[in-house]
Amino acid sequence: MARYRDAVCRLCRREGLKLFLKGDRCYTDKCAMEKRGYPPGQHGSSFRGKLSEYGGMLREKQKVKRIYGMLEKQFRKNLAEAARVKGLTGENMLKQLERRLDNVVYRMGFAASRREARQIVSHGHILLNGRQATIPSILVKTNDVVAVREKSKSHPQVKAALEAAKRRGACSWVEVDADKRTGKILSEPNREELTLPIQEQLIVELYSR
Ligand code: SF4
Repeated sequence: MARYRDAVCRLCRREGLKLFLKGDRCYTDKCAMEKRGYPPGQHGSSFRGKLSEYGGMLREKQKVKRIYGMLEKQFRKNLAEAARVKGLTGENMLKQLERRLDNVVYRMGFAASRREARQIVSHGHILLNGRQATIPSILVKTNDVVAVREKSKSHPQVKAALEAAKRRGACSWVEVDADKRTGKILSEPNREELTLPIQEQLIVELYSR
């Protein structure tokens, strides 16, 4: 599956918001948003433009795509699936993104960022209901059990991630046993858990134009 491979801090600078794409570094003063909190590029520091209505919708979409590390095609597919489910399309879309296995691995604290989680999953370190799962986009369900496989439990990356996760605080819809490197999905993710400022209705509007 294709993915973005360039420097990620410029994505936060572009959105003018910390998207927490680099794990522990995002919580230190080495964060690029602390040092250069203006858009990247030659004229980034002098940019004073005002966004049009369309520009605002576009930025909102880019922000969410970047938080979850998705490219356009996958994102569109996700939105189309969300529109088929009962309820608000924007909220369904976010809940669906939260249910992705790579996001759940991150939420459980087995990876320091969603990007790292995606790598851990595709490298075969994660078990879903006791079976190896290597597809980061698998959607988990209530009562599913996600665990780090036996051989990888003492991996330094996992240990460091669990330490870093303490700073992020617990996530209410998953239950984690950090010592056993295992976690369970307690319920559907809830919208309130997403504390980053996301206006999902603007994304739905953008695609319905
Ligand atoms: Fe964004 Fe993290 Fe880079 Fe800061 S360190 S700019 S929050 S990815």
